[in-house]
Amino acid sequence: MPLHAKDAVRDRWVDDVYCSRDSSVAVPKYRFPPHALPADHAYAVVHDELMLDGNARMNLATFCQTWVEPEVHRLMDECIDKNIVDKDEYPQTAEIEARSVHMLADLWNSPAAANTIGCSTTGSSEAAMLAGLALKWRWRDRRRAANQSTERPNLVCGSVQVCWHKFARYFDIELREVPMEPGRYSLTPDKTLRCVDENTIGVVATLGVTFTCQYEPVREICRALDDLAARTGLDVPVHVDAASGGFVAPFLEPELEWDFRLPRVKSINASGHKYGLAPLGCGWVIWREAADLPQDLIFRVDYLGGDMPTFNLNFSRPGGQVMCQYYNFLRLGREGYREVQQACRETATFLAEQIGAFGPFEIVHDGRSGLPAACWKLKPGPHAGNFTLYDLADRLRYHGWQVCAYPLPGLPEVIVQRALIRHGVSRDLVRALVADMCGALVWFRDHPINVPVSNKDGSGFHH
Ligand SMILES: *Cc1c(COP(=O)(O)O)cnc(C)c1O
Repeated sequence: MPLHAKDAVRDRWVDDVYCSRDSSVAVPKYRFPPHALPADHAYAVVHDELMLDGNARMNLATFCQTWVEPEVHRLMDECIDKNIVDKDEYPQTAEIEARSVHMLADLWNSPAAANTIGCSTTGSSEAAMLAGLALKWRWRDRRRAANQSTERPNLVCGSVQVCWHKFARYFDIELREVPMEPGRYSLTPDKTLRCVDENTIGVVATLGVTFTCQYEPVREICRALDDLAARTGLDVPVHVDAASGGFVAPFLEPELEWDFRLPRVKSINASGHKYGLAPLGCGWVIWREAADLPQDLIFRVDYLGGDMPTFNLNFSRPGGQVMCQYYNFLRLGREGYREVQQACRETATFLAEQIGAFGPFEIVHDGRSGLPAACWKLKPGPHAGNFTLYDLADRLRYHGWQVCAYPLPGLPEVIVQRALIRHGVSRDLVRALVADMCGALVWFRDHPINVPVSNKDGSGFHH
């Protein structure tokens, strides 16, 4: 090759990714790439594209963990090759998962915490499918035993997360979702009673409603169902979707009875990767007692020498998340979790107070109870600049914050906005958010949106 063939020389001698030939052309996007790339070049392409995503720490729309300790990064790295389903190859991983199940059963006051059954999942969605299937199976067994029809099962709930809609559709269950009403955003005992019948496989109560972050009154719902059972013999089990609340209520409101202290609560799910503080990809479902999970849903795997029950939708699944969950349990204990969640709660309350003080907003949830979060809506207008919460969300996005605005389910006229305060969302970050909200309100006042001239001096905002 002649020396003056500079391109070839350059490719051989210059190792700066951005001077390489690879980066002078676009990589294929939708066709399978014909050639290989050096690892560092391919890495730079992917890494740089990810830069365009939002900053997860500034995403206050998510319930999921966006900050973890360096030790969690290390454990995740050490576990990258561990498949949680290979219980014979990785018996300690299996053992640690089992311990975590019993720790959670203990945290949630199972009367049989040391012996009950449960499993890790990819998140609350898979956990909901498993818990829902158990309810369906138990209902069908009861109906068959009584020689009654097993057609048309239904599930009763309030405004649930989409995973329950999926469960109902995938597994052919009628979802009796009690709609929200103006000013009432939770399932209530009497609404529950109006929906249950002999085909109800169970009632789902949510501890930390996705849309408002409030807790549904699990104990009162259980009491009403106890009363129904006493009056009519209709015995309807309760599942608690504690995706977020399962890792908040035990620490911040230990006296609140929502868990296995209530005999009617037969199963609970939670997302380890939300307030459980594990990295993404960790959920849990626990049954009150082993007998609450029908045996024929369990697949027995005997290749450990012992008898390993498994109940999951997935087969292969990463083990690191569950190991980090266990790390969190050891690292924090009840005391540590309480401190973390308490700090989040105080920051959420601080945020709600600041937002309330702006003037145009009405606080729907201030974090004093329920999840550490703030949720607000606009007071009836007019407001300076005539903005909507969607405009405010856009304006905050301009500063990098993701604070979503959305209508409440079934109440299209009630638009709310919500910020989840998680471990890693500090008081200083929230102060910066408040300052940017303040700036947004000034900006709207000075750049009114479609506002009639006569309305230009709209009131309501002071800062
Ligand atoms: C997030 C959430 C879910 C779904 O959980 P994933 O862990 O994201 O699968 C279900 N229910 C409630 C109440 C939730 O907040």
